[in-house]
Amino acid sequence: MIALLAKGIVFGSTLILISALIKVWQLVGQLPSGLLRTRWSAMMALIVLFMLGYLGYIGVFWGRHQVLLDLIVPSIFLLGACFVWLTGVLSLQTAMDVMRVSRLERETLTDPLTGIFNRRYLDRRLHEETAVARRYGRPLSVMLLDIDHFKRINDGYGHQIGDHVLSALVEVVAGVLRESDIFARYGGEEFMIIAPHTPQLRATDLAERLRKCIEAHQFKLTNERGEDLDIRLTVSIGVASFSDEIADMDKLVHAADENMYRAKHEGRNRVISGMA
Ligand code: GH3
Ligand code: MG
Ligand code: MG
Repeated sequence: MIALLAKGIVFGSTLILISALIKVWQLVGQLPSGLLRTRWSAMMALIVLFMLGYLGYIGVFWGRHQVLLDLIVPSIFLLGACFVWLTGVLSLQTAMDVMRVSRLERETLTDPLTGIFNRRYLDRRLHEETAVARRYGRPLSVMLLDIDHFKRINDGYGHQIGDHVLSALVEVVAGVLRESDIFARYGGEEFMIIAPHTPQLRATDLAERLRKCIEAHQFKLTNERGEDLDIRLTVSIGVASFSDEIADMDKLVHAADENMYRAKHEGRNRVISGMA
């Protein structure tokens, strides 16, 4: 009877370890490659070794459990298996929760059409970057970019093509920007670029490069009738930089906005920088 109980406990413990192994395997599948994934893979190998150990034990001590005290080791096996199972379940749950939260956070900070940052994220970064510029006296520039005559694209080709043009434009701009630049959709067909550690002259150069690149780009798209379209665009860009006169976020954005409108009034397809 005791011998049967011992076998039951050890086989039951092995089943619990198999369940734990499945949980850890699911967890490893969720993790990006890296040290954490390697360590959890090592955990899987350890669980397999434990299972072999349990089965080896039952093989060696087959039928030798006779008194109640002989159940101590199988009981410790059972507790160990429960511990490993609980660790696997809780880790999997935690990993899923963390991933869900970070996915939600990413969704609340990105623009669904273009995939770049949205206004919410932009405002947050503007606050942070202007605070850094003020505290440490670091240069900081922003650029406000508005597509010229975008209504004509919508009117001429339809709103859907307009949407595709916006996405394609984002790719062109992202290809020119540096890792450190923060690129966000400001609203409609207006985009803002925050260029940390960038004085006005360099920001104006960057804006001019962007303007030229967009002017030279052929936006090749296909409409719903399968016809190839070759769309050209220009943009107007207002640049503003942090200075003694423009020493807070609102003034910085306002100056970029004023410069963008000046660029429109002066004929579009141009960059205007400096004090508005
Ligand atoms: P301007 O050179 O003065 O900027 O002329 P514009 O035609 O670009 O004028 P404005 O900036 O006022 O017009 C913006 C247009 O962009 C109007 C709106 O229908 C269109 N638009 C805004 N958001 C979207 C969008 O998400 N998708 C599409 N397809 N069009 C959009
Ligand atoms: Mg506009
Ligand atoms: Mg426009």
